[in-house]
Amino acid sequence: MREQFTYDALPGRVVFGAGAARTAIADEVARLDATRVLLIAMEQEEPLARKLTEPFAERIAATFTAVRPHVPTGVAEDARDLATAAGADLLLSIGGGSTTGTAKAVALTTGLPIVAVPTTYAGSEVTPVWGMTKGARKTTGVDQRVLPHCVVYDPDLTLTLPVDLSMASGLNAMAHCVEAFWAPRRNPISTLVAEEGIRALGRGLPAVLDEPAGVGGRADLLYGAYLAGSAFAVAGSGLHHKICHALGGAFDLPHAQTHAIVLPHVLAFNAPAAPDATRRIAQALGRADAVAGLAELTRQLGIPSGLRELGMHESQVDEVTDLVAPGVPADNPRRVDRPALRALIHAAWAGPPPHGSDATSTHQGQT
Ligand code: NAD
Repeated sequence: MREQFTYDALPGRVVFGAGAARTAIADEVARLDATRVLLIAMEQEEPLARKLTEPFAERIAATFTAVRPHVPTGVAEDARDLATAAGADLLLSIGGGSTTGTAKAVALTTGLPIVAVPTTYAGSEVTPVWGMTKGARKTTGVDQRVLPHCVVYDPDLTLTLPVDLSMASGLNAMAHCVEAFWAPRRNPISTLVAEEGIRALGRGLPAVLDEPAGVGGRADLLYGAYLAGSAFAVAGSGLHHKICHALGGAFDLPHAQTHAIVLPHVLAFNAPAAPDATRRIAQALGRADAVAGLAELTRQLGIPSGLRELGMHESQVDEVTDLVAPGVPADNPRRVDRPALRALIHAAWAGPPPHGSDATSTHQGQT
């Protein structure tokens, strides 16, 4: 008998394919009857954005390039002011998660539709989650208004993404998939999507490392990133994301590397209490053991082995534990008391990654 579940499917149109950006963006802008588009792109991606929007340049009413990581509130306000001044009727974001995040911040208050053209594997373009930072603290929220109406995925656009960023960003997507197995709104559909995401990312990551200019590997990674974002959008986030958000907000650690380092530790912690998830993750990775397989993959991909390599100090482990402890998800597969949480964060700080699914000796928490 199948378990009972609730599945809130999210709306959104996806156009996927190598070369799609050259034709599909213009089609999608026309489909939405937009004539005054606010183009949002980082300075670095502006030449690409100009080239892609050339065929419908007359519809671009203004361009915002002052995108900054983690969407500082001042940047969001500037982008909103520009949207109003330009009389924008559509937001077109071309870039990574920071660019999509800036478009979302504008949509949050204006209700303007977004066409998103991702150039990294962040996955934000298929989630209704927004995030903004003020000082060292990040605020996130969920609002359907920020969910892009259409996403154009073109693996060709990711060919220039440096290999280290591709690996870290792809592993960040992997974190969304793994976490989807025990996230609060998980259901059989989001789990299926996550499982297929792990399969695509597990194939794409080593392929892109071997051949960064290979479109096949890039397509696998981008497809995996899309599935990862979709699974995360429906299932939500759990223990892993709580830890990573605290680390990113408090110490400004790089988002994707932080995810890649912490993930095997959270999986090792939860594995004894989540055997079905662990079995399916291992199968999707094509490895005998999920924890060892994931840890081996991160090593193979050159991810730093511990948070200390990112500049975090051991004395900050307690601070992070204090930040995370009040928000630990009640339905995490394994009970997380403060000593267990501290041990997990300390292990992720120290590295190396855990060895296998039975690595309970690393973490002393109760199940
Ligand atoms: P990013 O958007 O900050 O981009 C990182 C760097 O990569 C930038 O310097 C950018 O110019 C460069 N870059 C982007 N595309 C490139 C390309 N194709 N070639 C060469 N360089 C390129 O980083 P990101 O990892 O994409 O996004 C991280 C942000 O996204 C974080 O703020 C994170 O919180 C957010 N995020 C949000 C969600 C959500 O659901 N709301 C999900 C995932 C990530």
